[in-house]
Amino acid sequence: MPVLTDLAAQRKALIDEMTMASSIVAFTGAGISTEAGIPDFRSPGSAWTVNKPIPYDAFVASPEVRAEAWRRKFAMDDVSAGAKPATAHIEIAELVRRGRCTRVVTQNIDDLHARAGVPHEHLVELHGNGTYAACISCGTRHELADVRPLFEASGQAPQCRECGAPVKSATVSFGQAMPKHAMQRAAKAATSCDLFLVLGSSLVVFPAASFVDLAKQAGARLVIINREPTGFDDLADWVLRGEIGPVIAGLGAY
Ligand code: NAD
Repeated sequence: MPVLTDLAAQRKALIDEMTMASSIVAFTGAGISTEAGIPDFRSPGSAWTVNKPIPYDAFVASPEVRAEAWRRKFAMDDVSAGAKPATAHIEIAELVRRGRCTRVVTQNIDDLHARAGVPHEHLVELHGNGTYAACISCGTRHELADVRPLFEASGQAPQCRECGAPVKSATVSFGQAMPKHAMQRAAKAATSCDLFLVLGSSLVVFPAASFVDLAKQAGARLVIINREPTGFDDLADWVLRGEIGPVIAGLGAY
């Protein structure tokens, strides 16, 4: 597990790996979006510490908890308002456009990969998408632009216009079942690439982090770009410890 901290050495290692690879999968976490202005979950002082996500069972069990979950969701939306895709989102979208990156598997819910131009069929959102909401029973989609004013006027958590069940941000909460189709697509991506590139994840959230192991077992090279050590560093062919943006800037062309 060679750890590189020098930017020139990091870029050389990454370019060498990308040049050798015929199929790259990018696996991203909240760290790829901090440069876009969206706080990650575990860095010190994160706005998430005062707006902690509420576990699924608690959300389902009580209307008061649902209202609190919505209050926290909109507070975090305000923190991230105006965020635009960062360098890394743009470089990855370019790799996808050029057919070099076959899938972007993300734990993020911020929609920034899609906004950078990664088409739906190349994007796997393991934890859903926080830019809209859905009924937890019938799945009907609800737009936040409709939900928010009603919530702010009434203080009541929204209910589905079709079936009356609770409406929730279209994300996967702690304790909620993972989306089957996304899990299958991620497994296929992990086992059919030859370079698995992790960008900005503490790799502590499971089952998402297990795709790192799966890719490695299937024979992929593994490169982890992250500010801090992760529990998977020992498995990596390269650990590039530092900021994502400067490492990946311009590498969409490789
Ligand atoms: P995490 O917060 O646990 O880990 C992020 C990692 O990225 C940390 O190790 C941090 O040191 C590193 N990092 C932050 N900025 C960086 C940068 N500029 N360059 C290099 N490294 C950087 O995030 P996670 O592993 O994705 O797990 C958190 C969970 O919370 C996920 O399931 C995700 O769905 C959710 N989440 C999503 C968002 C988002 O959509 N943007 C934001 C916060 C949390």
